[in-house]
Amino acid sequence: MRIKNVVIAGGGTAGWMAAAALSKLLGKNLTITLVESDEIATVGVGEATIPTLLTFHQLLGIKEAEFMAATQATFKLGIDFQHWLNPSTSYIHSFGSVGRECWAAGFQHFWRRGLDLGIDDDYGQYCLELEAAKANKFAHLKQTTLRYAYHLDATLYARYLRKFSEKLGVKRVEGKIVEVKTDLNNGHIQSLLLASGQQIEGDFFIDCTGFASLLIEKTLHTGYEDWSHCLPCDSAVAVQTQSTQEAIPYTRAIAHAAGWQWRIPLQSRVGNGLVYCSRYCPDDEAKRSLLANVEGEAISDPRLIKFRTGQRKQHWNKNCVALGLAAGFIEPLESTSIHLIQRGILRLLQLFPEADINVQDADEYNVQTKMEMESIRDFIILHYHLNQRDGDPFWRYLRNMDIPPSLVRRINLFQQSGRFFHQGDELFGEYSWAQVMLGQGIKPKGYHPIVDLMTATELQTFLHNIRNPIKRTIDVMPSHHDYIQRYCKSADH
Ligand code: FAD
Repeated sequence: MRIKNVVIAGGGTAGWMAAAALSKLLGKNLTITLVESDEIATVGVGEATIPTLLTFHQLLGIKEAEFMAATQATFKLGIDFQHWLNPSTSYIHSFGSVGRECWAAGFQHFWRRGLDLGIDDDYGQYCLELEAAKANKFAHLKQTTLRYAYHLDATLYARYLRKFSEKLGVKRVEGKIVEVKTDLNNGHIQSLLLASGQQIEGDFFIDCTGFASLLIEKTLHTGYEDWSHCLPCDSAVAVQTQSTQEAIPYTRAIAHAAGWQWRIPLQSRVGNGLVYCSRYCPDDEAKRSLLANVEGEAISDPRLIKFRTGQRKQHWNKNCVALGLAAGFIEPLESTSIHLIQRGILRLLQLFPEADINVQDADEYNVQTKMEMESIRDFIILHYHLNQRDGDPFWRYLRNMDIPPSLVRRINLFQQSGRFFHQGDELFGEYSWAQVMLGQGIKPKGYHPIVDLMTATELQTFLHNIRNPIKRTIDVMPSHHDYIQRYCKSADH
């Protein structure tokens, strides 16, 4: 039987991203219905993104300036990790490439030998995006392309995508799902029963009901792989504040005694939150700590969110794919959740069943998604595990806990020789891993012998010739704020 009717349960970021992409890319052949409940709020956070979102928008034909104005968006060049190694250090993980590499060795090898020669520049000083972030500058450049992402208002983004999807024929049904009906023979989902009595039938269902995971878990009992032993944060408190300064082009992730705080600058306001482990910090204390550490007056009530880090044992089960929080959750330290939604949607489109759902498609979807999530998990653990913060039991636990062997291997290799190898199509590449490993205090013992093909003077010239054009480019770039005013100023701002 041909798949004709697709039903999306849930209208948060995941639901509307799925609706937008399916209607744009497969819409002519499908009837798409999205069910969401006005009674049940979306999670209301999820406002920092990574550069892959630009690809998603290009696929959909979304116009950047219009989207940014509609969602109060600002540009994001990376994340500033404050006090993660210890309370007196900070580093930026930027989205850009760093320096220049050769076929055998990444730039960190050249930089590392520079240290031996007394050139003590930070690794990040060889990255245009990182230096632009520090200088609070942004522009779409003619001579080179900056790698950037956005900070956006999650509610406005869902609204924007809703408009986009409805224009392409997506039918929105408002109502609370009270029951999910399944076929007694094969266990596939048949329909959603709403509180109004209305029944929404479908051939294929996408579970975007957030942490409620009504279809994939409450109905199909798919099971969950729990990662909280190595990512123990299980709570967040979030609050919005008025801006007290012009928006900066990066996210702040500030380490706290039992977690970390985010600051996400939008055009009109700032999104703040504290992610923490309730074993080491009661909810009341977290709330107090967050409110004591925001800049600007709160414009929303602090909201408590509970979560369990991990993923569904199957992301695609029977005739249901879970996206967003229904599929699993890795805390937002590297802003990867929206990216995972987008990857899930594109993977689903690539494996979209022609007629009957076959188990091979689902298996492939599950294998790819799990690998992707596990490599992101390892990258997040890296930030925590390599801390040297004294005194806090939370950070001591993270330092001493067992970590996945895949991560141990990577840390040891980098520590010894500065080497890193990208695997498959994992999200974070060598520049990202190198920035975080160096930022978290690893100084590789050695470097690749190919670097010694340069004399000391040649290496100095090589490094100088990378740094100087970066400085010159940044000198002539406008401030981030000025650029936004010209390019994509929001009407409400
Ligand atoms: P939700 O937003 O919770 O939406 C669920 C939808 O399901 C709603 O429309 C609701 O009405 C509907 N629903 C639920 N039950 C029913 C029912 N019975 N009947 C009808 N409808 C129902 N991601 C990032 O990429 N960057 C970040 O910076 C980031 N920060 C985060 C910070 C925190 C603290 C958390 C918890 C998450 C963060 N995320 C971040 C993740 C991001 O918020 C989510 O991936 C994203 O918002 C998608 O959520 P969702 O659509 O899956 O769920």
